Amino acid sequence: MNPELSVVGETAGASGPGSHTSARARSRAYATCAWLEANSVKDSVALVSDEAMLLHLGPSNHPERPARLAEILHQLEISGLRAACANVPSRKVTRDELLTAHTEKHVDHVFASASVKKKGKDYGLPFGPDTYVNEQSPDCAALSAGCLLALVDHCMADENIATCGMACVRPPGHHASQEKACGFCLFNNVAVAVRHAQKQYGLQRVAVVDWDVHHGNGTNDIFAEDDSVLFFSLHRYGSTFFPGTGFAEDVGKSSARGFNVNVPLDKGFGDLDVRHIMQYLICPLMEKFEPEAIFVSAGFDAVRGDPLGDCRVTPEGFGWMTRCLYRLARHFCQGRLFLSLEGGYNPDMIAQCTVECVRSMLQEVNDLAGPEMELVPATPCSSHPGTPASMPACLAGAHQLLLLFFEFFAVGNLPGLAFLVVLAG
Ligand SMILES: [Zn+2]
Repeated sequence: MNPELSVVGETAGASGPGSHTSARARSRAYATCAWLEANSVKDSVALVSDEAMLLHLGPSNHPERPARLAEILHQLEISGLRAACANVPSRKVTRDELLTAHTEKHVDHVFASASVKKKGKDYGLPFGPDTYVNEQSPDCAALSAGCLLALVDHCMADENIATCGMACVRPPGHHASQEKACGFCLFNNVAVAVRHAQKQYGLQRVAVVDWDVHHGNGTNDIFAEDDSVLFFSLHRYGSTFFPGTGFAEDVGKSSARGFNVNVPLDKGFGDLDVRHIMQYLICPLMEKFEPEAIFVSAGFDAVRGDPLGDCRVTPEGFGWMTRCLYRLARHFCQGRLFLSLEGGYNPDMIAQCTVECVRSMLQEVNDLAGPEMELVPATPCSSHPGTPASMPACLAGAHQLLLLFFEFFAVGNLPGLAFLVVLAG
């Protein structure tokens, strides 16, 4: 991170550090600070970011704006988490690394796109109306993917304490396919990092959990025919909701059938829904798949208060999922859990989610109780006849999906690992 770069004020209008921080966020940060002071947890979780990624800037009303990352970095700072974690130096992804997940044509297109500008504007829209590019965007996209690779390298190195961590990056990546930028995403950061982990460290089975409110269509497509990668996406689905993909029936192709798992949910899903998905779908799948590393496309646009997502997961809910996934990672793959920021458009809320996720990892890694949080009970958001009484309405689609699992993946042992049932309480 380069502390001399002070671009937040100029690039994001009035949104300097702290201007988005709510009273709730401050009290969360101070509680975390107090918890850190009472516990010695130094360097056991890794963080990577770079303020240079704030220079990726488009239309003034665009939701994917620098204030998102600026607020995350601010709350990581005031919560003491930045100082408590191992801060990994950022780096840019190389062209060869990008080519493991993207076509040459696409990589060239992104690097050439910086010069394509709209008349009278500092940015262009060479990939469609949603996905802007300014002069710094190709470098920012190279940093965004490179930061996640740096996280993986740090966590895989024997000499470092941390085996898990988070890359706080932008632009996001999960909508970018092999040959196309899409939905604010230029390069698919997680897909490039999965390939890096496989190539560099010889991993045979890698799991990707995508909890962004939008379907991770780019990642889905990149790994659709690859049975070395279990791709799991839970997302809001509706005919008018972007990107309009991610049906339960989309289970992967040829020998990888069953290794793409899509859980479409209704608008408004919340903590209880994600809790059921974790307990009844993700845990049994992981138990069967036995991953050697788990990546998370950690978008926070399913959080309550997000202007795009319209859902009700709480920051505590994201922290709880992180704890579950860390326990799975510790059980199967020496704690290799790598979170990468995707979407999420309420700066204050996504920063609170980040604080919860990072603190949850510290808590789990060190077997310590955190400042405890209550999960808010979800209210069923719609009515589906035939939904089992114990299952929230949003999960009606997932119930159907469970039947598909038996067909394609032959999963048994519900409801998953006993140690996670304890967490689910
Ligand atoms: Zn999203």
